[in-house]
Amino acid sequence: MPYPPLLPWYEQNKRVLPFRGTHDPYAVWVSEIMLQQTRTETVAGYYTRFLRRFPDIAALAAAEEQEVLKYWEGLGYYSRARNLHRAAQIMASQYDGQFPHDHEAVRALPGIGDYTAAAICSIAFRQPYPAIDGNLTRVISRLHGVREDVDIPSVKREIARLAEENIDRQNPGDWNQALMDIGATICTPGTPDCGRCPLRELCDACEAGDADLLPVRAAAKPPLPVAVGVGLVVSEGHILVQQRDAALLRGLWVFILNEGDGTRTGMDKRLRALGLDAAFRGELGEARHVFTHRIWNMTLYHYEAPGLPPVRGCQWVDAAGLAALPLPTAMKKAREAGERLLREYEK
Ligand code: SF4
Repeated sequence: MPYPPLLPWYEQNKRVLPFRGTHDPYAVWVSEIMLQQTRTETVAGYYTRFLRRFPDIAALAAAEEQEVLKYWEGLGYYSRARNLHRAAQIMASQYDGQFPHDHEAVRALPGIGDYTAAAICSIAFRQPYPAIDGNLTRVISRLHGVREDVDIPSVKREIARLAEENIDRQNPGDWNQALMDIGATICTPGTPDCGRCPLRELCDACEAGDADLLPVRAAAKPPLPVAVGVGLVVSEGHILVQQRDAALLRGLWVFILNEGDGTRTGMDKRLRALGLDAAFRGELGEARHVFTHRIWNMTLYHYEAPGLPPVRGCQWVDAAGLAALPLPTAMKKAREAGERLLREYEK
């Protein structure tokens, strides 16, 4: 049966967030996709701006992918934005611009996994699907005293079974959001604040005193460090940029990268391979960006090329052109250095 104190607590204590209170499946979808791997406080501003520019499925489906990526710039995990765009186009062409109500059809859209489909169906359509993410897994494993590795498929199934058994069938959306809030603010990783928790009377781990050890998880592999040379090649007030076609950061614009080799010699070779005759002007410092599975340890190099020679797969942009392109956060320091170089040229 549902946890009796949960929904009354939620009524009194729910977090005030710009994406709360809506039952519009489109708005719920956009917020849930943004919230994957991104902090709630960061999402709030992006969400409002995104919905203002793309207020519904039709507006998003009709947009250029580059513009959608631009509105996503800084949020990271850009495949989320590309999938949103693709899914909107599918709904525009196959579902008459409406969000499908059927859980399986929602789940089949690009970028929508079990968690997001459950969040949309429960919040927008009141269907009893528990939205099981890291937060919910932690709370359920502590509440019910699940003391085995929660990444093992049979244990995952047990967590899902417990959630399905206890979800509130009248108000599954609030039930999910209440547990999300508890997981985010009270039943946090490490030592939870059981004294403030409305579920403490029901909680196995609280009674046993081992909540800080749950959920059990095998240690994740640390991200792999990769040396990356970043070439800032300028010419006549322009800088050279290239659109990524690798899976990581696909569709976004970066400077000339040499992944796996951060040395100056490596960058010289990379530029020659692009058919570029550029003179080295100096080193511009280092930058670091941590992705889920790798860390880029970047060294920034300044080069200058004569004229504006065409370079395969690249384009020359001035300061305004650079500002208009979607660049990943990994390029933040390089972008600032590039902007400085372009300003110097204007003097
Ligand atoms: S009582 Fe403590 S461990 Fe149990 S759900 Fe609440 S915060 Fe988590």
